[in-house]
Amino acid sequence: MSRKFSQNIVSSGKIIDFHTHPYRHRGEFMGMYGEHFYLEPEQMPSDLAEAGISVFCGSVIDSDHRGAMESFDRVREVNDAALQLREKFGSAYVPGFHVHPAFLKQSLEEVERMHREGVKLVGELVPYLQGWQHAGCDYGSEELTEILTRAGEYGMIVSYHTMPEWPEQTEMMVGNCPGVTFVAAHPGQKADYLLHVERLKKFPNLNLDISGTGLFRYGLLAALAQTVGSDRILFGTDYPICNPRMYVQAVLGEHIPDEDKEKILFGNARRILGI
Ligand SMILES: [Zn+2]
Repeated sequence: MSRKFSQNIVSSGKIIDFHTHPYRHRGEFMGMYGEHFYLEPEQMPSDLAEAGISVFCGSVIDSDHRGAMESFDRVREVNDAALQLREKFGSAYVPGFHVHPAFLKQSLEEVERMHREGVKLVGELVPYLQGWQHAGCDYGSEELTEILTRAGEYGMIVSYHTMPEWPEQTEMMVGNCPGVTFVAAHPGQKADYLLHVERLKKFPNLNLDISGTGLFRYGLLAALAQTVGSDRILFGTDYPICNPRMYVQAVLGEHIPDEDKEKILFGNARRILGI
């Protein structure tokens, strides 16, 4: 690991953050200390650029919403928000959109609409914030398989929040859609990491992003690189919940080859998203 390599990576601005949640206003701002810290949406690109990130991906989340989803309108609204933010940020932002297995017909229509819009990313799917449980749905739902299979036919990638309470359902989702490239979010603590590793071994169509909890444990990336290989690990932060500078420095500070760091920080995302 060289200091020069790290400085070059950051100043080159090549880093792709695969896991963010852009926002238009406070109601969509996911930062946990929002009453003390808020950046205007216009400030997002420069804030990320300071960490060396030039491209950011992911879905908009209606952070006020926790309960049952009474209609698909709220889902469509945050998807529209993602399209609006793409207008604003241009190619710096790779929008992701939501689907909901309780609304099969509308979700299939949404896949068609987003395909026409040139959107390539489904998710991050965040079931607990969109009332999947209230509707009796989970990752194992047949409707979800149908929706994601359709998305896969259009070459879309599916990013999903890791739901520890749905281990079998998660494997059903990934296993039932072998033609779909999945990216699980959040390595978690060591027990969760071990589960991810088992799944990555089992399903060649599965990848893992390093956003959220896990990366602060020194050696996580070395462990992942040695067990699943660095081709299936994507850089992500969960911005603005997490501070992107910490994540970039954590990757640069791990004891893995520089080529692995490049794959993780931008190479794998470029390949998977075709950008
Ligand atoms: Zn997230």
